[in-house]
Amino acid sequence: MTIPFNKPYLSGKELEYIRDSVQSGKISGNGKYTKRCHEFFETTHAFGKALMTTSCTDALEMAAILCDISSGDEVILPSYTFVSTANAFALRGAKLVLADSMNTHPNIDPLEIERLITPKTKAIVVVHYAGVACQMDEISALIQGKNILLIEDAAQGIASFYNKKRLGAIGDFGCFSFHETKNINSGEGGLLTVNNPSYVERAEYIWEKGTNRSAFFRGEVNKYDWIDIGSSFLPSDIISAYLFAQLENIELIQKRRIEIWNHYHAMLKDLAQEGYFELPYLPDYATNNAHMFYLVMRSPDERESLLQFLQDKGVWAVFHYLGLHSSPYYLHSQHSQKKQSLPNTEKFASQLIRLPLFYELTDQQLNFICEQIRLFIKS
Ligand SMILES: *Cc1c(COP(=O)(O)O)cnc(C)c1O
Repeated sequence: MTIPFNKPYLSGKELEYIRDSVQSGKISGNGKYTKRCHEFFETTHAFGKALMTTSCTDALEMAAILCDISSGDEVILPSYTFVSTANAFALRGAKLVLADSMNTHPNIDPLEIERLITPKTKAIVVVHYAGVACQMDEISALIQGKNILLIEDAAQGIASFYNKKRLGAIGDFGCFSFHETKNINSGEGGLLTVNNPSYVERAEYIWEKGTNRSAFFRGEVNKYDWIDIGSSFLPSDIISAYLFAQLENIELIQKRRIEIWNHYHAMLKDLAQEGYFELPYLPDYATNNAHMFYLVMRSPDERESLLQFLQDKGVWAVFHYLGLHSSPYYLHSQHSQKKQSLPNTEKFASQLIRLPLFYELTDQQLNFICEQIRLFIKS
């Protein structure tokens, strides 16, 4: 048996909508399906303003431009994250200030943020790891009355909540990913949410190569012009057509993913209680969108042995982030300094293991994976 880590899922109408888009004769950006996706996110998800992008990386880059980051501005973010969280701000000359994770789970520790804020802090980027919310009230309180913008890297956070507030709708900006490995996908794809109304107009310019083309198409101006800096952030309507089919089935997809997650949890709970590993920690203020099921092993060696053991049985479990604070770019770039010690980041970097989780994972496959883990522990 070979069980991949991830497998993209066709929920039904993807190809039909793509055909419709192609036959409509307009497949560039901001077409029929782009508008349908925007409407979906602005109504059912209540985001201030939704702008489809070609990736979450692009959404983060738009957010960095909107923050007006310039050389020397400091941006606080977790070390335990994907490179795009950092790259978007590095591209604009920011000094990246890397914070440690919580001890209990990989999200950024608000106490770390408090320690790292200086008069030069321009923005804070939080990452809702595994779709589990960061402590948004504590973090918002830290920047209250200060000129600091808050960005949510909600790449993994679709359909998840912090105390009933939707992730991606809390900060000034939210950034989502529809990469093949995420719950809802279009191969590559992303979304910027602009929740602070004073940034909506500028976000549209940046999205459309720095022009007021969106306003032109709405008939608000009679010619369009170069207004601001920008780039080509909007995806082809074909991408949005694929995504819209997935969005229509989001409840079905989420229901199955949560079932799988709960199944893993039920089957592995006793081993966790016996102390062989930790299961994902879910704070009571956070919902679980079943983006990921992970284990935190007792040591790096045990993590390596379990990964190898599972791969030998055809199960593609994988590790995750290495910690940006120890990356060659971070250490050798302008930010270079001697390597910081971020113990919680290092623990998750060396001991966390992600198990296969995708819509079509069968109960039989799930049982097989859990049996193999049990075999490994008991051997
Ligand atoms: C997937 C991911 C990204 C990047 O998303 P893309 O759509 O591939 O650009 C950024 N941040 C986090 C936390 C992610 O998980």
